[in-house]
Order: sequence, then structure tokens, then C-alpha cells
Amino acid sequence: MRVVRTIADLRAVLRPLREEGKRIGFVPTMGFLHEGHGALIRQSAARCDATVVSIFVNPTQFGPSEDLANYPRDLERDQNLCLDAGATVLFLPEVAEIYPTGFQTHIEPGRLAEPLCGRFRPGHFRGVATVVAKLFNIVQPDLAFFGQKDFQQTVVVRRMARDLNLPVDVVVVPTIREADGLALSSRNTYLDEEARRRALSISEGLLAAKAAFEGGERNAAKLLELARAPLSGVDSVQYLELVDAQNLEPFQGEVDRAVALCVAAYVGSTRLIDNVVLAPSPLDAVLNVSLSPQSV
Ligand code: AMP
Repeated sequence: MRVVRTIADLRAVLRPLREEGKRIGFVPTMGFLHEGHGALIRQSAARCDATVVSIFVNPTQFGPSEDLANYPRDLERDQNLCLDAGATVLFLPEVAEIYPTGFQTHIEPGRLAEPLCGRFRPGHFRGVATVVAKLFNIVQPDLAFFGQKDFQQTVVVRRMARDLNLPVDVVVVPTIREADGLALSSRNTYLDEEARRRALSISEGLLAAKAAFEGGERNAAKLLELARAPLSGVDSVQYLELVDAQNLEPFQGEVDRAVALCVAAYVGSTRLIDNVVLAPSPLDAVLNVSLSPQSV
């Protein structure tokens, strides 16, 4: 696995691969990697000839009161995980490499960035769309892998790639969970044992709603109620919403299309997000076909 820190070095490594017609996969991350990231890298390694993983804690997607300065880091462990999962290139740019002095051009996502996390993290998806567009231009991958864990991000990124005619397929990989249901997240490291126990109520509710959906329950209000019931375990619920999985608009009534049940909640000062997609047709078809660039 090659470790590179500059755009010039990355391009020099990738140029011969591209000339040989190799398929390049890309997994953008913020580091402090876990098996959720591992699943993305493994899927890229299985489907592509070369896999680039980037670790970049992107300042433009953090609000002023968020955890940018304290975002967890462990480069040695990250390198081992990347190697183990089959990455071929690890890209570790400094902030000045991505945002040189004088930088002033941003990608402004549209309506898809407004609800859910967008409502509580103003500018977040502008920062995400900008850095992902830049990274797509730097890496020029054939396929890029994103986790369903950040559901709204997958929808915003896919829309951005389509709107800007970026020649990349955005692949969404299902959320990886601990055995007890907690979605893996770099931010779980902030939770002590007691907080972690309370954080479980997030996945508990979502998975109960998913089980009910699979058992035939289609009523949006009932599904929301199942997800809400255990949430008294957390300190505050920022949002719990059932939305159309394609346009992220609130969904009411009987579920007749793919919807996403999305939660953001605080346990102590740690903000956690999670979701389940409830789809009358198979989940992979929903994540990777009906939301494909052609149809969103
Ligand atoms: P992050 O490092 O948090 O920016 O995440 C990098 C990528 O890993 C994003 O596409 C995330 O959605 C994805 N990811 C994070 N946690 C998980 C998880 N538990 N399962 C699957 N993908 C994940």
C-alpha cells in the first residue's frame, strides 16, 4: 500500500494505473477507521483493480461549535485497517493541500441538503459536497463507496455527481453494526459504558420499526412510534423522521415506496445519527438502483 500526502504524488501513482485501464475505487473518510469503513474498502477492493482511501478531516463540514479540533485520530491503526481491507493507496492530505490560500469556490447543494441533518448543521452539506467534488476531481475514481449510515450524505453526493456530470458511480454500502445493533461510528469512542448503553436505544427503535415493516406494518405513524418508544434512553432527540428515500420529503400514510427512518440524537454531548431504509423492494435495489444518478 502506497501512502501519499500530496495531490501531485497521488496523480503520479494513479496515472499509470489509469493508462493500463485499471478500474479505480475510492473511499473517502475522516479517519479513526472501524469495520464500517473496512466494509467500504473491502467492497471497493472486490470490485476495482485499485482502491484509494483518503483520510481528511474536512474543516468546511464542521460547524463552529462542533468537534473538529477533537475529532479522534489514530493513523497507525488506520493504516493497518486499510492494508488489511485491501486498499492500494492511502491519501493523507494536509488542510492546505486541499484548501490552499485564497480558496473561495464552493459547491452549493440544493433542497436535498435542507431537511434532517441539514436543518441542524447549516453549511455541513455544502462542505461535504465541496470536498467530495474536489476529491472526485483529484482521484477521478470509476466507483466511489459511501456508507448508508450517512444516508442524507449518500443522496446529496449522488445528486451532486449527477448535476456536475462527474463520471463516477456512487455505491452505497449498508450500515455495519455491533452485535447488539449500535451502528459503528468514529464518534462512539466518545461514549463511556453507561452512555453507550443508552445510545443503544437509537438502533433498538430503528430495528424494531424495521422488523415490524418486514412483518407487514406499513403505517408511517406506527413505524415512527416504534422507533420513538425506546428513545427515552438518550438525552435529547434532534430529529426522528420518516422521509421518502429519494427526495427526503416527509412521508405520511401507508408506505408504498422506499422510505428512510432517520434519527439524530444526543447522548451526553455526543451527537449520533442512524437510519434504516424500509423498502417494499429489495434494499440493494433501493440503495443502488432506484437512487442511481439516472433516477434521483
Ligand atoms: P466518516 O469517516 O465518518 O466520514 O465516514 C466515511 C465513510 O464511511 C462514509 O461514507 C460513511 O457513511 C461510512 N461509514 C461510517 N460508519 C459506517 C458504518 N457503520 N457502516 C457503513 N459505513 C459507514
